[in-house]
Amino acid sequence: MLDDFNQDINSFFSLHGKCALVTGASRGIGYAIAGLLAHYGATVIGTATTMAGVERIQALLANIHHTDFNEKYGTGILLDVTDSENISQVFASIEERYGAPLILVNNAGIVRDQLCLRMKEEDWNAVIQANLTGAFSVTRRALKGMLKARWGRVVNIGSASAALGNAGQVNYSAAKAGLEGFSRALAREVASRGITVNVIAPGFIETDITRQFSEEQVAQMLSSVPLGRMGKPLEVALLVHFLVSEAAGYITGATLPINGGIVMG
Ligand code: NDP
Repeated sequence: MLDDFNQDINSFFSLHGKCALVTGASRGIGYAIAGLLAHYGATVIGTATTMAGVERIQALLANIHHTDFNEKYGTGILLDVTDSENISQVFASIEERYGAPLILVNNAGIVRDQLCLRMKEEDWNAVIQANLTGAFSVTRRALKGMLKARWGRVVNIGSASAALGNAGQVNYSAAKAGLEGFSRALAREVASRGITVNVIAPGFIETDITRQFSEEQVAQMLSSVPLGRMGKPLEVALLVHFLVSEAAGYITGATLPINGGIVMG
């Protein structure tokens, strides 16, 4: 408990001895999260859908630990969050090598933007499956280990799009709003077991998703951001680190915004 300033306050932020699973860690926000959690001492398992992504994660972990890639600090692993069988295999492999991950960051996500009237059912389904059903499937499997340990941290990466309802994103806004409802309900189910469940809702962050925008789209986007710039993946990762650390043990069922002031209050 944080009730005595004579104790080592820094220890509340250390992740030494914890195994963290970060989905979609090959690039963007997930890459920064994987790197930062490793920096704070976690054994990080970062997932990617390609071998090139797996290698990128392994190079990141090697870089953080100033050594050649060494499995003892964690690893990159292939995972498609929409494939339940793949999820079972990946957890079996992680648990055998590292023990159960007690920190889970559901970061994997995709966009398939289109106006509702023109949106194909397959684009609706793909976005719901990757952003919402994927998080449900991975979390359900991860809970087993957390319940046993009576400690766990689940952080789901939502989006400001859930609250704002961006035009052209009915699938994405629905998936991310769904993730918030999922997180609040789950937070109530598992609170008595020492497990917290929270959402981080970023606004515009500089990644492959936002790099697809034209200069005109970026200018229009930034005109709605009081702080006048996009966020950095590392800024999101710093918030994730706080939520998964011991320091945030009294926060659950929350959606924390990180959006330069697009949504206030
Ligand atoms: P990127 O497109 O840069 O990265 C997406 C990551 O998700 C990649 O690692 C990708 O893996 C992985 N991924 C995609 N589909 C699957 C799948 N089916 N199974 C497993 N992994 C998958 O995205 P960002 O870093 O920008 O976004 C990360 C999260 O943040 C997403 O949930 C996104 O919705 C959210 N977000 C982003 C914002 C932004 O402005 N960038 C704003 C608000 C929220 P691979 O490389 O192998 O394809």
